[in-house]
Amino acid sequence: MTTTLEGIAASKGIAFAKAFVLEQPEMNIEKKEIEETDAEIDRFQKAVDHAKQELQIIKEKTLNDMGEDKAEIFSAHLLVLEDPEIIDGVTAKIKDEGVNAEFALKELSDMYVTMFEGMDNEYMKERASDIRDVSQRILLHLLGVENTSLAAIQEETIVIAEDLTPSDTAQLDLSYVLGFATDIGGRTSHSAIMARSMEIPAVVGTKEATSAVGSGDQIIIDGMEGRVLIAPDEKTVEEYKGKQQEYLRQKEEWAKLVNESSVTKDGRRVELAANIGTPNDIEGVLSNGAEGIGLYRTEFLYMGRDELPGEEEQFEAYKTVLEKMGDKPVVIRTLDVGGDKELPYLNLPPELNPFLGFRAIRLCLEETEMFRTQLRALLRASAYGNLKVMFPMVATLEEFREAKNLLENVKAELIQEGQAVAEKIETGIMVEIPSTAAAADLFAREVDFFSIGTNDLIQYTMAADRMSEKVAHLYQPYHPAILRLVKQVINAAHNEGKWAGMCGEMAGEETAVPLLLGLGLDEFSMSATSVLPARSQVRSLSGKEAAALAEEAVQLPTAKEVEALVHERGFVTS
Ligand code: PEP
Ligand code: MG
Repeated sequence: MTTTLEGIAASKGIAFAKAFVLEQPEMNIEKKEIEETDAEIDRFQKAVDHAKQELQIIKEKTLNDMGEDKAEIFSAHLLVLEDPEIIDGVTAKIKDEGVNAEFALKELSDMYVTMFEGMDNEYMKERASDIRDVSQRILLHLLGVENTSLAAIQEETIVIAEDLTPSDTAQLDLSYVLGFATDIGGRTSHSAIMARSMEIPAVVGTKEATSAVGSGDQIIIDGMEGRVLIAPDEKTVEEYKGKQQEYLRQKEEWAKLVNESSVTKDGRRVELAANIGTPNDIEGVLSNGAEGIGLYRTEFLYMGRDELPGEEEQFEAYKTVLEKMGDKPVVIRTLDVGGDKELPYLNLPPELNPFLGFRAIRLCLEETEMFRTQLRALLRASAYGNLKVMFPMVATLEEFREAKNLLENVKAELIQEGQAVAEKIETGIMVEIPSTAAAADLFAREVDFFSIGTNDLIQYTMAADRMSEKVAHLYQPYHPAILRLVKQVINAAHNEGKWAGMCGEMAGEETAVPLLLGLGLDEFSMSATSVLPARSQVRSLSGKEAAALAEEAVQLPTAKEVEALVHERGFVTS
């Protein structure tokens, strides 16, 4: 009989294959007394060198297969191998305590992992996972244990693992690995993000896949519903074959829309744009037919390094994006750090409520040298495409005016230096703080556009931390308060002849698209892989009907009723 495990749908698609359960290699680490400590240090150093060579090879492979931003994970791993706190720490432990290298490394890395994992900070949590991954690699060399090689998989397989580390995912040969399921992780965990960029189905957070599935078991994974089916009976296989066919057929239909416009049946045209984090994402943006970039999160240029990026480096990144996008609009957001995105090298004092603290535009308006460098790079790049500049986390008009003023000053300075700068650069703001949404009519007189950042707007309006599972039920995009704020922001923009977009996750959700269309949203910016499904949906809708739906929806008292209305009226198909 079929056994079904429920997990989190991490990457779309359905796969059928035998399972390969990734075993954690047996590593018995005992404490031993060592007399020849110099020889032990030598043995440790050799293991570190081996790990370094391996990582360099993996980094190259990832760079070729998946691009620079994914390869950066391994640059971070290589940095761990050079981190004196760890490497010198282990050496000192071997020498001072006369213990074996395995024991010294395990003790030290466990200490750092526990310390970093306990911090309420995504960046430090990532460092913890880097250290865990790297020390595991060195330990395997020290113990002479063969890494149960994912790379050795030679038949069609679905990988089942407790979790997949970056090193694991880099080893997957996609001609054999059809998908994976893990015990832990969420939709934004590393393995889930990798699965989406590799375009293979994945289910994460099943809690018990590794204990319930045996290597060689026939299984099905459903990346749409977040299900793992073990030993499926014939009827289940038939049913899922049908689902798979349907998904593939739908994908083919979507692919036909790459060069089509995003226009409703009754002729309302909207812009479907993509969100990006680095210039490497452009390939996916273009292959998915996005009509522009609605949000370029520049903070990734500043993260995972020891110092601020200089003007030239930033200029090159922005110029690359603008050139590749041709005359399509590119909204580049100025630095948005703080909250969950920390830059350790800025040495900012810790805060009790970082999401309500010294971040984004608040920080940039004080660290003006840092901000001016970014503005110079942006303005110089503006000569190469259709740039629009956007300021994040704006709460007051003074902040917008001050930022705009700086931009104007920097522009005048560049012109005086004889640098080419585009004549007209639209300047807008993210609407992600309730004060700005509530006073949108006042902002609309001065900005060129709004982009609604629902990821934050929902968390601040509902007072529900966007990172907390405990209050996830309060994080409600369809709450009447959110829909009314969105409506108010769009109307305020239109009353002043400006445009309004949305770059929070909500913009790409199937239930949200008809509502937002009905509320009059002009630009929808989403992950690149959502663009074609959204275009297909827009083309099947009538603008007039969507407007009637939205009007009814904003009067409903609860999010549940709004969602039910959109489904009942047949505006979504799944
Ligand atoms: C948002 O808040 O909706 C947004 C798009 O910005 P970020 O997710 O980068 O905070
Ligand atoms: Mg935000």
